[in-house]
Amino acid sequence: MTGVEPPLALLAELTHRCPLRCPYCSNPLEMDARADEMDTETWKRVLSEAKALGAMQVHFSGGEPTTRPDLGELVSHATSLGLYSNLITAAVALTDAKLTELKEAGLAHVQISFQGTEPDIADRISGFDGAFVRKREAAERVIAHRLALTLNAVINRHNVEQLPVFFEMAAAMKARRLEVAHVQYYGWGLKNRAALIPTQAQVQETTRLVEQAREDYAGQLVIDYVVPDYYSRRPKSCMNGWARRFFNITPAGKVLPCHAAESIPHLNFPTVHQASLRDIWHNDPAFNAYRGTDWMPETCQSCDNKKIDWAGCRCQAMALTGDAANMDPVCEKSPFKDLVLDLAEQEAARETPPDFIYRESPR
Ligand code: SF4
Ligand code: SF4
Repeated sequence: MTGVEPPLALLAELTHRCPLRCPYCSNPLEMDARADEMDTETWKRVLSEAKALGAMQVHFSGGEPTTRPDLGELVSHATSLGLYSNLITAAVALTDAKLTELKEAGLAHVQISFQGTEPDIADRISGFDGAFVRKREAAERVIAHRLALTLNAVINRHNVEQLPVFFEMAAAMKARRLEVAHVQYYGWGLKNRAALIPTQAQVQETTRLVEQAREDYAGQLVIDYVVPDYYSRRPKSCMNGWARRFFNITPAGKVLPCHAAESIPHLNFPTVHQASLRDIWHNDPAFNAYRGTDWMPETCQSCDNKKIDWAGCRCQAMALTGDAANMDPVCEKSPFKDLVLDLAEQEAARETPPDFIYRESPR
């Protein structure tokens, strides 16, 4: 395909192993085993190819990326290439020694997710006793190392009432940024949707509180906001468009336009062992399947929003309508919209939600 822009960032999923068991984890239901993870040299080659393709940033993620002993070496390689490195971490094992090593390797930014503002709920959601206290201590160490810190507040029906405390907590921890992100219902999140989804009224209140906090904390804390778009009139601009700005590499080396793309069964995604990133980004049929606007259904073709939301999320269209080429069914123009709303409202209205189905770490 001609006229394809280079990617901005690579999400490098170094491993699917993680000590936490979050029931909304964005990892696929079928995770890569430790034995299938790419080795250090292959990851370095991949980082070099990403830079040559035009990427500016690498987000080291997982699973829990600090479980890889070569993380420092990979950050160092990314730094030598001129890539901006971000670490997305559960942080329960982010020791002082590890932070020292990563900072010396050139790490620029750390992102720590919090499942609540106090131990009871945070530890229950993450499925790990003591997670909250360890995360809070790790966040303090990140600041002590003078690294930029973002807190990620993952919002669901169990912690939605804690939002005002999340603002206070992020400011007290001297985070630069707080990402208030409602759970996205793919993979494990979709499996646990009935246990997690808040009501529409709770989401509206979250939106109001975020707007207020942006004023209250102006100049102190940048607040990003990701809604659970089942309740929205328009879909989110998922990944800023399919294969447009971002791509993802799994622990075993599969190259994807987003972390949930494997849920679209008719697409075969290539691996870094089969082709170069340049070839994959520009020419792979799965990358070109929903790129741009030509593939869009008629309603989107004639819509002013088509280059703003890029018809929303392909994985959500697949999960909720059975066809990834449909417009995102959360759009008010979709014939599936009422169905999606009914589903969300019925699940959210349950007085007692079902138990979590925890994600377990692969071996
Ligand atoms: S289990 Fe939780 S902490 Fe671990 S990778 Fe998944 S979402 Fe992140
Ligand atoms: S019709 Fe398509 S392009 Fe327009 S808002 Fe809905 S999903 Fe987006």
